[in-house]
Amino acid sequence: MPGRRVVFLGPPGAGKGTQAKRVVERLGLLHLSTGDLLRDEVARKTTLGEKAKGYMDRGELVPDRLIIDMISGRIGQAKKGFLLDGFPRTVAQAEALASSTDLDAVVSIDLAREEVVRRLTSRRVCRACGAIYNLTFNLSSETARCDACGGELYQREDDRPAVIENRYDVYEKSTAPLIAFYRQRGLLHSVNGELGSDKVFAEIMRILAA
Ligand code: AMP
Repeated sequence: MPGRRVVFLGPPGAGKGTQAKRVVERLGLLHLSTGDLLRDEVARKTTLGEKAKGYMDRGELVPDRLIIDMISGRIGQAKKGFLLDGFPRTVAQAEALASSTDLDAVVSIDLAREEVVRRLTSRRVCRACGAIYNLTFNLSSETARCDACGGELYQREDDRPAVIENRYDVYEKSTAPLIAFYRQRGLLHSVNGELGSDKVFAEIMRILAA
């Protein structure tokens, strides 16, 4: 069976969210983005959201226990398979995941720091439907609205330059070790995130169909 239990790795801004939306639409998987789930908790001012907000605004990782508790029940409900986007982000999270499910593929979308900074400073997100845009690739002006739903576009709090650098540092220190972790387990596939969105998508579909 082609890959139905999939993890996306990669630095912030590499295109995980954009590609995840396309892949789940094509393959009918459950998309679980821990960043989106957390932003929803923050917006609803839940206890978890109140605890997570400070870490997120600083570009730091939310403690493992909170994340694992938030995600594990949802993975169990994904009968037709899942795509994890932004989880795991630490070795402890990867070990917790391994104790609850096998995986079919881990796709690492790689992107260098300079390109991450360039992309994230010009990223805008739809407040209503979560669609992701970039001022330099696919938006004609700062005041444009969402193509899909007409919603308002905003800049994420953590897409400010000082926070972006910190997020890349956190990625290198805490998350990049997962590349070796999954390579050792024979699950890792790497994709060059500098290729255009369509080429990255084609490459991911080729990997998941193999
Ligand atoms: P993202 O949308 O994936 O860039 O995540 C935004 C922020 O949410 C991160 O900078 C972290 O503060 C937090 N976050 C998301 N996923 C995780 C995770 N797996 N572990 C810890 N913190 C996370």
